[in-house]
Amino acid sequence: MAIATINPATGETLKTFEPLNDAEIASKLDLADQAFEKYRHRSFAERAIALQTAADILEQEKADFAKLMTLEMGKPYKAAVAEVEKCAVVCRYYAENAADFLADVSVKTDASHSFVRYQPLGVILAVMPWNFPFWQVFRFAAPALMAGNVGLLKHASNVPQCALAIEDIIRRAGFPEGVFQTLLIGAAKVADLMADERVKAATLTGSEAAGASLAAAAGKQIKKTVLELGGSDPFIVLESADVAAAAATAMTARMLNNGQSCIAAKRFIVAEAIADQFEKLLLEKFTALKIGDPLHPETDLGPLATPDILQELDQQVQTAVKSGGKVLTGGYPLADRPGNFYPATIIIDIPIDAPIAQEEFFGPVALLFRVSNLDTAIKLANATPFGLGASAWTNNNQERDRLISEIEAGAVFINGLVKSDPRLPFGGIKRSGYGRELSIQGIHEFVNVKTVWVK
Ligand code: NDP
Repeated sequence: MAIATINPATGETLKTFEPLNDAEIASKLDLADQAFEKYRHRSFAERAIALQTAADILEQEKADFAKLMTLEMGKPYKAAVAEVEKCAVVCRYYAENAADFLADVSVKTDASHSFVRYQPLGVILAVMPWNFPFWQVFRFAAPALMAGNVGLLKHASNVPQCALAIEDIIRRAGFPEGVFQTLLIGAAKVADLMADERVKAATLTGSEAAGASLAAAAGKQIKKTVLELGGSDPFIVLESADVAAAAATAMTARMLNNGQSCIAAKRFIVAEAIADQFEKLLLEKFTALKIGDPLHPETDLGPLATPDILQELDQQVQTAVKSGGKVLTGGYPLADRPGNFYPATIIIDIPIDAPIAQEEFFGPVALLFRVSNLDTAIKLANATPFGLGASAWTNNNQERDRLISEIEAGAVFINGLVKSDPRLPFGGIKRSGYGRELSIQGIHEFVNVKTVWVK
């Protein structure tokens, strides 16, 4: 894949970049390695000052960064502004809390003094996706840099200007040279990086294939990885739920980022008794969405990020229809304009055992299933290889408790939208990956948990 900015709303190539050659990659690795030797000794207070400055820059220049994201990957401008603001929040969160999260922990043993100390690992590689081009990077970088690690970013090839802008923010914030560098390289170079002894660990957000490939390369070198992969999150609405509130949130949960989010609600599992009402409300909301130029302030739904994503989604919809699904609205790419536009789509009546029902739809397509009871709802929610998030709607406490304990996912949200929050751990089980980002668990992923025992 070429490293280039291609406007997904028009198909126009705005800028192309030469990938780094091997000598350039080697010198950046050297720089990162040398930077770590000094940076690891900086105090939490010094690191926090720089991270707070990064938050200031993000807030002050959010309009420019948001426009860049929208131009490169098509998310609606208002969502892009919100993303930059959230990046500032995660920077401030770790600037304020990292020292406490990584303080020595005393443990009583037979020693005169024994404790746990958290120390940085060194150079960490972050392989990141295009869907949240700022957020995914900052949620890695904020804890990693506060812990004293050094970051190398291999961003998705379609968001090179976002990648360079982030490197620039971190440099301008006052972090020493080499503490965070962007590598403009293709995916084929990642395995070599994992084999380099200067790279100590890696995190990847993206597809299962990319995650498996990185983990295999890291496994050969016995290096730690954190993987945040796909999801096919269920959104369960039971008879006791506030159906109107559930339908309103369902639309938001599916359309987030033009439908291209790992934690978007993708499979809507609705109790038979309220299914007609829910379906009608959802249809109204989907058909009211304004699709068009993502830079326009009133646009709700922009283009998909690349022609490949559009084509794959279209294929999946066609397969769903061939499997017995019925399209209520949408169901085809918009051929009347340039760019990668796909309308808000609802598909009902897909047989629950059809293989397509298990797949992740990475775009604005909702699959609606009707169930007769809670047991079937939970069984269907879990009938996917993924296990990232789940949203469940009920006002019955027994149902709520069963949903919380029986849904196979890294997160369960009751009567609310699945979202990431710096204060709560984020990550999945099953084929959605492993490890956690954010919160105290996130900062503990890339540290040496050193046991100290003094006689
Ligand atoms: P990819 O997984 O291909 O891209 C994500 C990142 O991984 C990019 O930086 C990419 O680089 C890199 N990458 C790709 N292949 C490898 C590899 N073999 N080894 C190491 N790094 C690799 O996602 P796509 O853009 O192709 O999207 C396809 C699907 O991935 C989506 O339909 C969705 O299911 C899933 N996805 C999930 C995301 C999430 O938030 N969990 C985010 C994005 C995608 P390059 O761009 O140079 O190929």
